[in-house]
Amino acid sequence: MAVVDRKSRIAIVGGGLVGSLAGCFFAKRGHSVSIYEYRADIRVEDYRGQSIDLALSIRGREALRAVGLEEVLIDRHGIAMRGRMIHKKDGTLNEIIYDSVKGNLIYSVSRRYLNAVLLNAAEKYPDVSLHFNKKVVNADLDSGKLKILDTKTETIEEAEADLIIGADGAYSTIRRTMAKKPLFNCSQTYIEHGYVELFVPVGKNNEYAMSGEHLHIWPREEFMMIALPNDDHTFTGNIFAPFATLDKLKTPQQLLNFYEEQFPDLLELIGREKLVNDYFERKPKTLISIKCKPYHYGKTTLIVGDAAHAMVPFYGQGMNAGFEDILLLDDLMERYDSDFSKILPKFTELRCDDTHAICDLAMYNYVEMRDLVTRKSFLLRRHLDTF
Ligand code: FAD
Repeated sequence: MAVVDRKSRIAIVGGGLVGSLAGCFFAKRGHSVSIYEYRADIRVEDYRGQSIDLALSIRGREALRAVGLEEVLIDRHGIAMRGRMIHKKDGTLNEIIYDSVKGNLIYSVSRRYLNAVLLNAAEKYPDVSLHFNKKVVNADLDSGKLKILDTKTETIEEAEADLIIGADGAYSTIRRTMAKKPLFNCSQTYIEHGYVELFVPVGKNNEYAMSGEHLHIWPREEFMMIALPNDDHTFTGNIFAPFATLDKLKTPQQLLNFYEEQFPDLLELIGREKLVNDYFERKPKTLISIKCKPYHYGKTTLIVGDAAHAMVPFYGQGMNAGFEDILLLDDLMERYDSDFSKILPKFTELRCDDTHAICDLAMYNYVEMRDLVTRKSFLLRRHLDTF
């Protein structure tokens, strides 16, 4: 890897999964990196954001490997899932192995743990500074100047960079700023389905209550539940359903009736009281898909991860595709010797079609997971590397 003679100032907006990984890559090349994160430091303060668990696949692992983090995550923490376990209403199970030829697996990892590992790794580089409770509220994309709100003191600060990386998620401020520029196309789609996160406690003898080697799915055509194993032998699950269905679950009795009818085996594992408490403690969340082009503005700004291509979670590839963005970006940094005027347009050229396709596949996979997965024709096909 070429370490640069000429250091550039890189401002990364968003210290989530993709922003913190990008910080590691830029720092490794010898650039000066500042990461501005809206939230408090998740290594210190608790927060409840998007899903607790994520499926890490080969796309994501390759990026982690390049900064020496794959082993830390997989060996010490990741839980190998070798296939889907389909739960029918009558309680019968059907296993679908992801890759019975090469034995590829996907791994269940905790979002918080992964983000903490990435922040720690970024912070180890001498020229990386992490700034928490800093919300970027405005960006001048021509000059590289940022206006940043300190959410604790409520004061505005300014910063200047040679390159702004918008890694600020699905509701990206940097993307919104790019949208004011000519020739920027963007579309967003909210699906009619929402999700609520639920939890399966530890089973008997401190063991998993179901197989700890599978991603569990309860497909019910119009809606479904899924659950991923955690390393403390619990599972984190989600019910994905149309808001029209979720809206009908207004009382504990309605919820319990629904689970008795649709997911009786799961109700037994979660327990009636826990299900009611966990479900009503949360509000159903929305799911959005975003496609835009280009991903860059001039030689000063690039959006990556969900900021560029948020997708519905049914392909289990949002984070993985975001990590892959950074791997491609690093490859271009090598190829064009950190010359952003060449790297950024090339990134758009090479990346947009692929990520638009992944967004479409993610939409399609929802139908597959909640319905097609139950059909005989589906069982004949093999699926690698996705939910
Ligand atoms: P985010 O994780 O959204 O991080 C953006 C960061 O930017 C946040 O920390 C935010 O606080 C910060 N920020 C926002 N605005 C500003 C601002 N103005 N100034 C400063 N900071 C700002 N993907 C997978 O690969 N596998 C899975 O199994 C999977 N499961 C999922 C399940 C669910 C239910 C959902 C909703 C998503 C799932 N995803 C999965 C997708 C994955 O969560 C995202 O793709 C991933 O989080 C994207 O990372 P990111 O860093 O681009 O964005």
